[in-house]
Amino acid sequence: MLRLLLQTIKMGRLTEKGKVRLVPRRSSGLPKSFRQSLQIRHLDCGSCNGCDWELTATINSLYDLQHYGIDFVASPRHADLLMCTGTGTAQLLNAAHKTYEAMARPKWVMAVGDCAIDGGFFKGAYASKEGIGEVLPVDIKVPGCPPTPDDLIKALLEIMGKNK
Ligand code: SF4
Repeated sequence: MLRLLLQTIKMGRLTEKGKVRLVPRRSSGLPKSFRQSLQIRHLDCGSCNGCDWELTATINSLYDLQHYGIDFVASPRHADLLMCTGTGTAQLLNAAHKTYEAMARPKWVMAVGDCAIDGGFFKGAYASKEGIGEVLPVDIKVPGCPPTPDDLIKALLEIMGKNK
């Protein structure tokens, strides 16, 4: 156990350090309740799963997203924020739109990764749209292919009006 601990300290983090370049569209006027906790409904809108794996890493013991008061929920009825990964295939954009409609106001949309922002690597592919912005009002974009867990947490804290 001690050997593992020393090895971990010596190696440090294996993921890349974040280079987040956030593009917020309307982060002002946020209700106070958002500053205490944020409930997220995540939708894979046709990703390669790279972004989803980084998203999953945010709730591991290293990044521990939940200690900021942020968590993922299964129902859009309970969500403040719709987080989308992937280019937005025709079928999944339909589902994304229905999910957005099912959420109570005020609600926010976050595009995670280059694909969700503008199609990214799959731009121009026959089955893909050019990002989720085609059907959803995107409030904040987190670029990267994929963005790191640090990037994602920083963006979420910015939405809540907190600095990491
Ligand atoms: S942005 Fe990159 S990692 Fe994310 S879904 Fe697209 S290709 Fe995959």
